[in-house]
Amino acid sequence: MPAANPAPVLILGGGLMGLALAHELARRGRAATVLSRRRNEAAGFVAAGMLAPHAEGLAGHLLALGQRSLARIPAWVAQIEADSGLACGLQLCGIVVPFSTSGERDAYPTAAWGQGLDRAGLERQIPGIGPSWQAGLLFPQDGQIDNRRQLMRALERACVGRGVRFEEGCEVLELISSASDSTRPSQRPQLEAVRLRRADGQELNLPCRQAVLACGAWSASLLPELPVAPVKGQMLSLQAPIGALPRVLFGPGTYLVPRGDGLVVVGASSEPEAGFSEGLTPAAQRQLEQGLSSLLPAASGWPPMERWWGFRPCTPDQAPLLGEGPIAGLWLATGHHRNGVLLAAITAELVVGSLLASGGPELEQQLAPFHWGRFKAPSPSPRINPPGASPDRPGSNR
Ligand SMILES: Cc1cc2nc3c(=O)[nH]c(=O)nc-3n(C[C@H](O)[C@H](O)[C@H](O)COP(=O)(O)OP(=O)(O)OC[C@H]3O[C@@H](n4cnc5c(N)ncnc54)[C@H](O)[C@@H]3O)c2cc1C
Repeated sequence: MPAANPAPVLILGGGLMGLALAHELARRGRAATVLSRRRNEAAGFVAAGMLAPHAEGLAGHLLALGQRSLARIPAWVAQIEADSGLACGLQLCGIVVPFSTSGERDAYPTAAWGQGLDRAGLERQIPGIGPSWQAGLLFPQDGQIDNRRQLMRALERACVGRGVRFEEGCEVLELISSASDSTRPSQRPQLEAVRLRRADGQELNLPCRQAVLACGAWSASLLPELPVAPVKGQMLSLQAPIGALPRVLFGPGTYLVPRGDGLVVVGASSEPEAGFSEGLTPAAQRQLEQGLSSLLPAASGWPPMERWWGFRPCTPDQAPLLGEGPIAGLWLATGHHRNGVLLAAITAELVVGSLLASGGPELEQQLAPFHWGRFKAPSPSPRINPPGASPDRPGSNR
């Protein structure tokens, strides 16, 4: 029989996944404590917030996961808004993907899910689109959410309202597990505690038998066998006249995401070689500005607002690591790369379902393609595909 009051689940990392997991656990009656090193470094505060399984040109299991998450998002957001009293800025406004030729459009991995557009159709969807774009796909089912200004804050408040405890400024230094039994090599060691440093500098071992690793791009520092590496992204924003851009415009290397109040978020560079180097670079900012003027020339005249950067957690196949990990009692929710906002809803549902053992074989089946074991030897060592260079990339190469 389960204990009457099981110990809180520790959530390692208070970014987007950490918050989504803690909220789901609390909603399902299980106490959670979030250990968060630095709230502001989370990619959840950086992302453009596109909900774009089709516009991103995802394929295979990742596309199916993204579609399931997209279907779940309206109810997920409604729950967060009800729990927090705050709006999240969800807009299922559709996304337009432009192409130079109709041949490129028809070869797009998710073309079958979109509405084909010729030049006249493109102009109707995106008035003022640049002259080099001759064809397009409209994905009316895709959308966006204002993660940076609304969703993250609403999730934090929803968690607090449901009794989640937060330790801000608390760095997890080490996972402590029982030594594995050499006579039973297939048995995983059991999580026993995490070593942490609190905001006041105090170090201690916190006993714990159930935790979720949600440290985003930094996940491999706690579990080096996980092939998760940072892919830096730089962004900027502009203030447009309200309604000037009716839908998200998703070009190669640059996209424009119009919020309801006229703010337009422009993203994003993709810099695997940058590691964790902080700050803006002239080259990446120039690339965004050039992409902007090619996609929507008028946008180059809109007043600039902010510039920022962050780190996507990327795996070699660019799909997340979900479910049970190499240590018993430690679940994984990391490696979401450029689709973490899209995938937060389904990640919380599946990983919490697995942790609470409430989903049965169907849930475990959904998690199976995202098990960390797909990268275990003898597969090649971790490697990040340069954007657009790999035939095995589950995405559009945009
Ligand atoms: C430029 C850019 C644009 C993006 N655009 C989109 C988009 O349009 N749509 C989309 O779906 N996704 C997008 N993403 C991806 C999305 O933001 C990420 O996939 C998602 O935020 C990952 O969530 P996470 O919780 O795993 O990591 P994060 O949100 O980065 O959070 C990780 C947290 O873990 C904490 N942490 C790390 N190590 C430790 C430790 N040892 N102890 C305690 N805490 C620790 C960190 O402080 C951090 O707060 C974008 C990302 C970037 C960078």
